[in-house]
Amino acid sequence: MHVRCACPACEQPVLDHLPSEGGELRCAQCGWQRPVPKELIVDDAPVRCLVCDSPDLWRQKDFPQSVGVLCVAAGAILSSIAWYYHEPVWALGILMAFAAADMVLFVVMPDVLVCYRCRARHGGVKLTHEHETYDHETGERYRQEAIRMRQP
Ligand SMILES: [Zn+2]
Ligand SMILES: [Zn+2]
Repeated sequence: MHVRCACPACEQPVLDHLPSEGGELRCAQCGWQRPVPKELIVDDAPVRCLVCDSPDLWRQKDFPQSVGVLCVAAGAILSSIAWYYHEPVWALGILMAFAAADMVLFVVMPDVLVCYRCRARHGGVKLTHEHETYDHETGERYRQEAIRMRQP
C-alpha cells in the first residue's frame, strides 16, 4: 500500500510505501513519523486514515481530474481542426476516440481511499463494495469541523 499526504508537521508532500502487515509512515523532509499497527490494515485496506486516524474515508479513482479535462480539450481542438479542413468524419471520429480513451483510462485507473479530514490518499488497496464513494454530508461535516478548528 502507499500513502500520499501532506506531512502533518512540515506540510511537504509525503509519499510512503507500507507493507500490508503495517510499519511506519514517515516524512523524508522533516523526520515526522507515525507507527501503523497491523490492526489498522484489514485485508489490504486501511480501516481508518493512517495519517490522522479519522474513521471516514471515501473511495475514488486515482485519476487526476486535470488529465481528464486535458484529454477532452485535446479531442475538441483536434476535432475542430478536422472540421476546418472539411473532414466531418475525422472530426467525429477524433471526438469519439478521445471520449473512449477517457472512459478506458477511468475504468483501468485504480481506486484510492481518501481521508475526509486530511485528504491523505491510500493507494494500492483492496476495496470491497463496503467502501463508499464521496458522501456530501460527511464531507460537509468535516469541512465545518476544519473551519471550527481554524478559529482561535
Ligand atoms: Zn514533514
Ligand atoms: Zn486523515
